[in-house]
Amino acid sequence: MKTTPFWWEDAAPQHAERVIDRDHCGVLVVGAGYTGLSAAITLAEAGVDAFVIDAQRVGEGASSRNGGQIGNTPKFDLATAKRRFGDKRGAEVIEDYRQSMPFMLARAKSLGEDVDLNLNGSVIGAHCRADLADMRAARAALPLDAQAKLEILEEHEVPRAIKTDTYRGAVIKNGQGSLHPAKYVRALANRARALGVRIFTGCRYLGAQRVPAGFQVQVTGEQGPVVLRADQVLIAVNGYAGPEQPWLRKRAIPVQSYIIATQSLPLAQMEELLPMNRAASDSKRVLCYYRRSPDGTRMLFGGRARFRTTSEARSAIGLRGYMEQIFPSLKGVEITHSWLGNVCFASDFTSHVGRMPDGLHYASCYNGSGVSMATYMGHRVAELMLAREGADRGVVNAPFPKVPFYNGKPWFLPAVGGLYRLQDKLARWRDGA
Ligand SMILES: Cc1cc2nc3c(=O)[nH]c(=O)nc-3n(C[C@H](O)[C@H](O)[C@H](O)COP(=O)(O)OP(=O)(O)OC[C@H]3O[C@@H](n4cnc5c(N)ncnc54)[C@H](O)[C@@H]3O)c2cc1C
Repeated sequence: MKTTPFWWEDAAPQHAERVIDRDHCGVLVVGAGYTGLSAAITLAEAGVDAFVIDAQRVGEGASSRNGGQIGNTPKFDLATAKRRFGDKRGAEVIEDYRQSMPFMLARAKSLGEDVDLNLNGSVIGAHCRADLADMRAARAALPLDAQAKLEILEEHEVPRAIKTDTYRGAVIKNGQGSLHPAKYVRALANRARALGVRIFTGCRYLGAQRVPAGFQVQVTGEQGPVVLRADQVLIAVNGYAGPEQPWLRKRAIPVQSYIIATQSLPLAQMEELLPMNRAASDSKRVLCYYRRSPDGTRMLFGGRARFRTTSEARSAIGLRGYMEQIFPSLKGVEITHSWLGNVCFASDFTSHVGRMPDGLHYASCYNGSGVSMATYMGHRVAELMLAREGADRGVVNAPFPKVPFYNGKPWFLPAVGGLYRLQDKLARWRDGA
């Protein structure tokens, strides 16, 4: 079993330039994932001289490791958003989520590379009857055109979308889908380069100080320590923020997420298990997400196998168990890949974009759903840096709450994970299962 992402078979992360040969740039972007590269594209399109640096290779963070599922549903409703952020900004926050997917699809199409885009829809299995009732209520609260895109399945209809008897019902979201995450991040990098952006890898950002015309930035890499002057700096490190990001590390909570890939299986069997290769997940608090490989022959099955840091080998055992519960016919199939990566949560489950007190910009916290949101938030933070009219709206500059007693090490995750699992069990128990 390989412990590298299945995606890397087709699109392994590559190094870019290794030597920074200039001492000034317009914007220095830290992080070469969806956020940083999407921001760099918007900045370069506006004529800004942008550098992107990454401590690893291009896209080697979550952006080449994720499930590739495309969605834009926030983890809260309009009423909650209004309560948190006020009526106007709350509505704008929901609008940011709504806009993220069309923006990402347009950006992906503009890259001119095949990223295995599949818009056959997604399906969410209802873990318990109360979740199915919530799905119905959420659909009913939408405008009629949005309702038309959602199809509620009763328990006996679920096998039409997922061949399992695990769920109490499901919702099909037409128009959503999946892509190849590593091809997508590679294509973003290619587009950024074509626009004149310079990408440096193996270059770690160490910190920045304000100077009269911007920032003096310390970087280290293959060439040793480098000091660079940048007019503006964007921190786009999401779940990989190190100790050099003390402000973010009081707010952004990294959580490991795990995925396994099965061996290639007969197409007809896979089509029966997950028709139309829809992207699938469930409504549990400790959710599972799964899909087929772009060629349709493998199951890629992800989730939070453990809430303590663990190895790819151990997480594979847990994930196989969940997968076999949902699809008993996959019992004993070979697992060819098992890998992990960091997602990043905020305590209010909202994405956050803005400026830190020291003047550095940031975009962070996609709460496990960053394919659309990171792409869009990269663009939105770039608009803020370009001082575009109307950029300060929705999640941009919305209050980013500190997590009490937290300083970068999420010591509370095992307890929270245990509580979530218990809540999942109780929900089924209430159903009488
Ligand atoms: C296993 C897994 C499954 C997921 N599944 C899905 C899914 O199906 N759908 C979905 O929408 N989202 C999913 N996500 C979330 C999604 O992948 C992320 O939200 C998204 O990739 C975040 O992009 P990013 O550019 O902000 O961060 P990343 O891609 O993580 O990039 C951050 C980069 O910052 C760099 N960095 C950090 N510190 C420094 C430093 N000091 N100097 C230089 N560079 C630094 C890192 O090396 C890293 O490359 C998943 C994530 C994981 C891990």
